[in-house]
Amino acid sequence: MPKVLREDDIVCVESGVYTVSGSNTNWVIVREGDSCTLIDTGYPGDRDAVLASLEAVGLSPRSVAAVLITHAHNDHIGAAEHLRTAYGVPVLMHADEVPHARRDFLDQVSVGQVLAQAWRPGVLPWAVHAVRAGGTAHVPVTEPRPFPAPGALDLPGGPVPVHTPGHTKGHCAYHLPRNGILVSGDALVTAHPTSRISGPQLLPDMFHTDRGRALGSLDALGGVDAGILLPGHGPVHLGSAEEAASTARERAAG
Ligand SMILES: [Zn+2]
Ligand SMILES: [Zn+2]
Repeated sequence: MPKVLREDDIVCVESGVYTVSGSNTNWVIVREGDSCTLIDTGYPGDRDAVLASLEAVGLSPRSVAAVLITHAHNDHIGAAEHLRTAYGVPVLMHADEVPHARRDFLDQVSVGQVLAQAWRPGVLPWAVHAVRAGGTAHVPVTEPRPFPAPGALDLPGGPVPVHTPGHTKGHCAYHLPRNGILVSGDALVTAHPTSRISGPQLLPDMFHTDRGRALGSLDALGGVDAGILLPGHGPVHLGSAEEAASTARERAAG
């Protein structure tokens, strides 16, 4: 089911930094002049909404210098291959996530695992929505690229990848040091239709490849110098990355 973008789906967080809510999933546009970095690309059904969000902030798909992927789940790479093939946009990610994006394997919660949890509040409606948005579609990125070098990337916003394995093996958050922003992907979220709490938290257990490593990655996130958190799911969180990570850690222990 294609997502139709509304005006209030786009939040200008800081000058040139926008977070956009698609079908229960977010992507981030980091603008610098006439160019931008796009972090994540929603579900396959969010493709038109991704293009509309670029247009709404005065950019075109050709002005995307690169797509950065936090991890290769369908709700984050939905429009990546289209941007790559139609507009020549490179799609970058951690080297450990490259084979996953190519779909040499799929490391994503299965329909069977979801159905086993269907008794939990919110799980079934979320699953129906996710399938309609393309959650089970086959959407490989055929030529994903690893980051060219360690450290800050030479892209609009100067994003710095923060390897945060656990949710998937090659999951990365992105630090925007000039803005004090942490784009945390699915390593640290603030809400999800299958969770009853709001605020910084880990996703429910069934979504992680290795929950223990996901917990450990909260240390890496907590060490980032940022006062604004832009998660892959849920609203913007104002507060230090350190505080957000420790809240998520406490909740995971409880
Ligand atoms: Zn994910
Ligand atoms: Zn996600």
